[in-house]
Formats: sequence, C-alpha cells, structure tokens
Amino acid sequence: MTTFRDRLNQIQAEITEITAEHLEERIAAGDAPIIIDVRQRDEIADGRLDHAHAVPFGLLELELPRLVPDRDAEVVLYCAGGTRSALAAHNAQKLGYTRLLSMAGGFGKWKQIGGPFKMHPLPDFPEDPEADAPPGPGVPTLSPLDLQALLASDQPPILLDVREDEETLRGSLKDAQNVVRGRLAMRIESVTEDRDARLVVLSSRGVRAAWATVELHALGYRNAVALQGGVQAWQEAGLPIVRSNALSPQARMRYSRHLLIPEVGEAGQLKLLGSKVLLMGAGGLGSPSAYYLAAAGVGTLGIIDSDVVDRSNLQRQILHADNRVGMPKVESARATLQGLNPDIQIKAFNTRLTSENVDAIFGEGWDVILDGGDNFPTRYLVNDACVKHNIPCVHGSVYRFEGQVTVFKPHQGPCYRCLYPEPPPPDMAPSCAEAGVLGVLPGIIGLLQAVEAIKVLLGVGNDLAGRLVHFDALQMKFRELRLRRDPECPVCGEHPTWTGYIDYEHFCGLG
Ligand SMILES: [Zn+2]
Repeated sequence: MTTFRDRLNQIQAEITEITAEHLEERIAAGDAPIIIDVRQRDEIADGRLDHAHAVPFGLLELELPRLVPDRDAEVVLYCAGGTRSALAAHNAQKLGYTRLLSMAGGFGKWKQIGGPFKMHPLPDFPEDPEADAPPGPGVPTLSPLDLQALLASDQPPILLDVREDEETLRGSLKDAQNVVRGRLAMRIESVTEDRDARLVVLSSRGVRAAWATVELHALGYRNAVALQGGVQAWQEAGLPIVRSNALSPQARMRYSRHLLIPEVGEAGQLKLLGSKVLLMGAGGLGSPSAYYLAAAGVGTLGIIDSDVVDRSNLQRQILHADNRVGMPKVESARATLQGLNPDIQIKAFNTRLTSENVDAIFGEGWDVILDGGDNFPTRYLVNDACVKHNIPCVHGSVYRFEGQVTVFKPHQGPCYRCLYPEPPPPDMAPSCAEAGVLGVLPGIIGLLQAVEAIKVLLGVGNDLAGRLVHFDALQMKFRELRLRRDPECPVCGEHPTWTGYIDYEHFCGLG
C-alpha cells in the first residue's frame, strides 16, 4: 500500500527543488523566475514574496496555463513548508511545464533566512474558478443521477468536495466532506485508509475533481471517481444542495466575535451566511447598512441602484470613492464590499425599481428588504411588494439632523400604507428637490437599519415592528412612537382593495 509518506518521498525524488537562499540570490541579481505561492488564501494574509502570484494549490491546473502560457518558462512554487509545493510541481508537470522548481522549506524557511516579503491585497476570488477552464484529465466519472442512486443504496460512497472554502460556503451535497484540493493528499488518509473505499470527488464543474481523482489513484484509492459536471450539473439536475452545518476555519476566525455571543453563535452565523438581504439603493442609508451587513457575513446582498457615483455623494455615501466618480454605484458598492468580505455574494441590479420589474426582483427569495429610498414612488412600490411577497421591510429616512427607523412586518405590524394609504396629491407633496442632510446622519440611521435587519434574520430581541424610532441629532434625543396597524388598510387590511402596483410617476418628474 502506498502511504502519503511513500508517495511524497517518491515525488520529492522526481521534482527539482531550489533553496530559499539560492532564490533570494537570484532575485537580488535581477534573475527572478516566475514565483507562485500555492498556499490557501487564509495563509497568505501574513505576507508573501514580492512579485509572487497567489494561486492556491487547488486552482493551479486551472490558473497556471492562463498565467504562464509558455510551458518552458521557469516557475518556482512555494507553500508553507515545502510539501504542497512539491506535490503541486509534480502535478503541474503533467500540464507540460518543463522547468518547475519547488522551494525547499517553503515560506517558513524564507522568513528564517530573512528573505523579503510584503503584505499584498488578496486577489478577488473568482465566482466559479472552473468557468471557461479546459477539461481535466480523463478519469472515471459518475453522472448526477447515478450518484443519486448510489447514495440511496445501502453502500453509499464517501463524498469529497475539493473546492475552496469560499465555494463550499454556498452549499454542497448532503454529507459531503470538505477537503480542499490543496490538502487532499495530506488529509485523505484521515478520511479513510481503505484503498478500496468508493470515493466520489466533487468540484464546481468536474475539472478539479478530475485532477484530484488522478491524485487519489496515485495514492492507491482505486475506486475514486469524479462527479460528471460537478456540483453545477447536480444542481441543474434538480438535486438538492445543503449549506454546510459547520463554519470553515477561515469563517470561524472572521466571525469569532459573533461566535462569542450566545444570541448569534455558530448556528446564528450560519443563518446569516445563508441569508439574503436586498438594499434599495447604495446611497446614504444603503452604504453604512451594506458595509456592516457584509462585514457581519450576511451571505447574499442584493443592491438596486441605477445611479453612478457623483462627487456630491461622497459626503455620506461611504461605499464609494473619489476615484470611482462616474462608475455605476452598484459596481462601486460591489468592489468595496467584496474587498471587505470575499465570502459573500453581491447581486447587483443596475436599474430603477418599477412596477414592471419589482415582482421578478422581489421574487428572488429575500429574507429582508432594507428601504432607504428617498422618493414616494419607490416607497409605495417597495411597501406593496413586501406585503405581496411577505418580506419584512426595514425602513429608514433622514432629513437634515433628523432620521427615523421602523420595521414593516407584513401582517404582524402596520405597513407603510396603514400610515399613509395614498401619496399626497402632487402639488401637496414635499419637494422632491434634493434635501440637505448632515453627512453622518444616514450613518446612524443606516446602522440602526442594519441592526434591525440582523435581529429579524436571527429572530432575536424585539424588533421595531409597530414602533418608530425618531432621532434628533441636534438635541441628541431618541423618541419612540407607537404605530398601529389599520384594519382598513388597502394593502394589508382585512378587506384589501389593492389591485396592483402603481408607478406614481407624476412625482418628481420621474417616468
Ligand atoms: Zn397596511
């Protein structure tokens, strides 16, 4: 039986190593080869070699041909201690690379000899690393339907999900074990030592699974097969996905301060990661709420906004930046939020909400809507759609030094039309001219909205359904008002008369 140790010794005899000292000399002499850091993303936060490309081991076969098209280029791979880079160099040889070197002792050795390194920002994690990837090597595969049958048999196989943590957070097959590709060879023996065990390897589209299957065969796991088309094909066949019931080590570190609060804890954090919140606008209120909801790990944030970043926004819309003036706000918001937390998904809607698109957008399974819209037409549209789709709406508004927040929970408290059944006639409506506001005020109100959203998602505490909190910054006073549900409400009352969405287009010159 080939153990991992045997295999590693064999591989180390087959590949070429470079010492940390020699690499440092060559870099100093201006003769640097291409350098690739194959550690996991959570390992490279402490710094990496200058000019090193960060390509986790698990993505190497996908990324290396894109990054280094010349198969005769000299490429140095390194990891933490020299084991994974040796395996990676061995694997990359199969892609036709002729001058691969593994740095002996890895980054640990490099630091020991005083080699220079820097903190670099993490590159964005691709939505699906296997999108547009060439097919993997030919290995035995199993179709999703065959796998389903096998899982229902009395001898179900072991499922190994070799995707990166960023991907498995979004869900995998029930009972699949997450063993990232970069650690598969080292970990497989702790999953099973039985070389006859039936193993089914999963990746997003089956490409990395094929490479991983080759590796398992080399270690003697002769019954390893890859899931054809990966998790994507499984989902396309209408088969179920479950979100993992444990946080990855990386997530555990990121959300450690949440895990210490009994009201959140691991179960609550997983709930947040599985939640979807839709923000009306990436403006004054949407900016601070989105910022903290992203930091808190709300798994999917939708943002609807049709504007571009304008310099006059920057006094309060802190998601954006001066060098992004002219960029669509949803794209600017995405860049900021993914930079803060690459684990979450941002769904951008670069459009204005109308009666035409509201059902399609609100029908995407949102758990909470955050309404920081500043005009009547949208406010009524959001309200009516929230009642129709039964989605709680955390409502906020600001004016000069004052702001207010409440939660409209369909059928559990009042809705916006319980308070204001119809918009005022256009000539009586407050001016739609842009109102002045103290820049920090939406920060306070937007964060109160974020707190309410998180409470609603977790089901903890007393939310603001039926109550409105009014804040006066000049007096530094919070007041609370009771809001009552109107049994005669045209939308949420006992005898609703609502017949469909209305675009109040005569307001504000919209439409
Ligand atoms: Zn109502």
